[in-house]
Amino acid sequence: MSLSTRIFIALFAGIVFGGLLNLLAPGWIAPLDEYVLSPVGEIFLRAIQLIVVPLVFVALVIGVTQLKGSGHIARYTTKLMSFYVVTSAFAIVIGILVAITIRPGDSAEPISSGDADANEGQPLMEWLVSIVPSNPFESLASGNLLQVIIIAALVGTAINLLQDEQTKPFMNFIESTYEIVQKILGLVLIIAPIGVFSLIASMVATQGFGILANLAVYILGLIAAIFIMIALYALLLSVTRANPKAFFKGFMPAFTLAFGTASSNAALPVAMDGAKKAGLDEQISRFAIPFGTALKRDGAGILQGFNAIFVAQLFGVELTFTLVLTIFVSALLVSFSTAGVPGAGIIMMTTVLTAAGLPLEGIAIVAGIDRITEGFRTMLNVLGNAANATLLQRSEDHRLAKKG
Ligand code: ASP
Repeated sequence: MSLSTRIFIALFAGIVFGGLLNLLAPGWIAPLDEYVLSPVGEIFLRAIQLIVVPLVFVALVIGVTQLKGSGHIARYTTKLMSFYVVTSAFAIVIGILVAITIRPGDSAEPISSGDADANEGQPLMEWLVSIVPSNPFESLASGNLLQVIIIAALVGTAINLLQDEQTKPFMNFIESTYEIVQKILGLVLIIAPIGVFSLIASMVATQGFGILANLAVYILGLIAAIFIMIALYALLLSVTRANPKAFFKGFMPAFTLAFGTASSNAALPVAMDGAKKAGLDEQISRFAIPFGTALKRDGAGILQGFNAIFVAQLFGVELTFTLVLTIFVSALLVSFSTAGVPGAGIIMMTTVLTAAGLPLEGIAIVAGIDRITEGFRTMLNVLGNAANATLLQRSEDHRLAKKG
């Protein structure tokens, strides 16, 4: 049985089990969740996150050093960044338009203020300064992927500028670390279905279905926007003759894992593996997939655009052109700086709402149901990253064909 089939079954079983528990045995929820479901889910998440930082670092160092002297690095980076900005802009516009059309804020009930976790958002310049690492060990230890990418790019560039014999021992170490990390991934994935089952069962059992009613339009609208973006990617892949079937088949385990764990970082190792199955060159995937895992979050972009419009509707704030533009720009920036961990999207809402001058109380209203849409969003985050890597591949194929 393939990994995605096993994860699918686990997802389904988790929903059924959690649902039954919620409806039939509410007294069991707290002890089962506290002593079994949450700890087992957490153990799986931690085990898979264990390999994320070393994997991003070694994959990128190998990626950059493989491109030595070819002039590819600058081209890959420029192309990826341009693809990212365009596709993220689409995602946010979709989120905003869906919210404007279906007006989720009209059907929800505003609550009194005072409940929100009103942290101030981080100003842009401060964020830009903070992504430059000052201590490599701190960056690695704290799992700051943006900083890890910068360090890996610097290490890779320095290796490219040195003679081969000066760097051979280090590269041997890096390459063998890559193999070891892949092996550990294989071992951790054995328990993936149990981990996903526990995470989903815990969510469904503790949240129940009652919470869905008040915010049903919000939840369904957000999920619809996510699927519109997925359809757009499918179209983009067909238009660029990228074989959408191979794409979805190859990356499916990563998508299901992203859905089950609500963590793009956790899905990264499986996405790297999926890239191979989807037919991407290793040269491209080792560079593009970790790069995108740190930066590219379409689901987060849709969430921020959609949610800010929802909050404006909820509190009766008029949607002027300037307001929508502010929401768009801040959601775009936030989509590039949302961490790939569960709950990151909700934390980043403060930045967008603050930038747009909207009440932060809106966060308290949606906090309870965020986890329901987060699986879908994270799946799109991983899918968008994989699709952009595939677009890079297509554009490189095209370039080669034109040359040859
Ligand atoms: N959990 C998401 C991720 O890992 C981020 C988000 O909350 O949107 O990609």
